[in-house]
Amino acid sequence: MIALSLAEIASVVGGQPYDIPDGDRQVTGSVVIDSRKVEPGGLFAAFVGEQVDGHDYAERAIESGAAAVLATRPVGVPAIVVDDVEKALGALARAVVARLGTTLVALTGSAGKTSTKDLIAQLLQRRAPTVWTPGSLNNEIGLPLTALTATEETRHLVLEMGARGIGHIRYLTGLTPPKIGVVLNVGSAHIGEFGGREQIAQAKGELVEALPEDGTAILNADDPLVRAMASRTKAPVLFFGESEEADVRAENVRLTDQGQPSFTLRTPSGCSDVTLRLYGEHHVSNALAAAAVAHRLGMSAEEIAVALSEAGNLSRWRMEVTERPDGVTVVNDAYNANPESMRAALRALAAMGRGRRTWAVLGQMAELGDEALAEHDAVGRLAVRLNVSKLVAVGGREASWLQLGAYNEGSWGEESVHVSDAQAAVDLLRSELRPGDVVLVKASRSVGLEKVAFALIEGE
Ligand code: ATP
Ligand code: MG
Repeated sequence: MIALSLAEIASVVGGQPYDIPDGDRQVTGSVVIDSRKVEPGGLFAAFVGEQVDGHDYAERAIESGAAAVLATRPVGVPAIVVDDVEKALGALARAVVARLGTTLVALTGSAGKTSTKDLIAQLLQRRAPTVWTPGSLNNEIGLPLTALTATEETRHLVLEMGARGIGHIRYLTGLTPPKIGVVLNVGSAHIGEFGGREQIAQAKGELVEALPEDGTAILNADDPLVRAMASRTKAPVLFFGESEEADVRAENVRLTDQGQPSFTLRTPSGCSDVTLRLYGEHHVSNALAAAAVAHRLGMSAEEIAVALSEAGNLSRWRMEVTERPDGVTVVNDAYNANPESMRAALRALAAMGRGRRTWAVLGQMAELGDEALAEHDAVGRLAVRLNVSKLVAVGGREASWLQLGAYNEGSWGEESVHVSDAQAAVDLLRSELRPGDVVLVKASRSVGLEKVAFALIEGE
């Protein structure tokens, strides 16, 4: 974090300093919420969780070198006491970001935020020092913590914003007001909580409502609900997508035999060929969104194409490909799943598996509400249409719907298997896999299917 005195921090967060020995102190290190991660000169924010109360670790944080603790009550060590630690953290992030001359890029969408954020970061990093959200820390705590890691050197701050309801993104943009706002897509992630796609669009669109007149809204021209957000912003709009009217678009999109998308990138400054190092055609859309941001910040089409062709996944378990010595390929996409990403992953599996035996080891897509049955059924059917060799459906009711879809589409009997849990899937695959097979492992986070991928990679 930029150096701030405790008096300054107290004033920004509206808090009361307690037990500060020599009148004041500087905070020079990171702000953390885990006392084990405290840095000398840092600030420890004490949250009250379900299992633990951060206040119990205040003393330990100071022993580890923290300058002070942000807390809701005096804790006997140097502290700034506030009513609400989460709000205080937000206020501090807002104040710090306002002092820095950093260009803020924020992005949201139902699927692909983290992948796209990683791409944007890798593009912008080539130009100037860039700070970005690690992993998926995209909520009201993770976002300020990330913003607070920016320093005077930081030129670009790239922030993933997640929404689980109306007003969430508005709150986040209030903390870190973006200059450039990207909306990727409106899918069915968390549809059960939101109530419908329109509501999801309403919530995601809060991002472009927050943009200033001299900002830029970067919108997916291929997604009608995102395209319509153009009417909700004061900022000029830059469209990306495969459709003709997009300002930043992909032409001649194809998948290489490795399942990696290849296309001609066209931006208002020219065109250049790209082959991604990422798997799955859904990354074309993510790459175009990243390209639009880079274009807006002055990069040429050629420069963007080179950077995209060299960019990798920075976050784990997203189409992570491991080649086993015996020639089995394991594709670990167990980080998360929704209908859009399931379809994209299956198509990538089909492309990678040309001439090889392919296995789709799939589990539940969570939070689909009333659409759950139809969506699982549709994924089962798609596996058949893409000529996947074997479907292993893992888990309870939703897995049986996957299997049912395959049965109804292609009269699949032996080609699809329903097993109760990850261990049963591992046992089955260990006995059935042959050299040359390609295995995709994918389900929602809560299913924990990465266990299958790990077992296949480590315990051959
Ligand atoms: P979360 O909400 O969990 O943070 P996210 O929006 O950050 O998710 P990623 O982590 O990038 O998204 O990807 C999640 C899943 O969605 C992965 O399985 C990935 O394969 C898939 N995915 C990535 N980009 C897209 C896209 N543009 N369209 C559909 N699916 C995608
Ligand atoms: Mg994410």
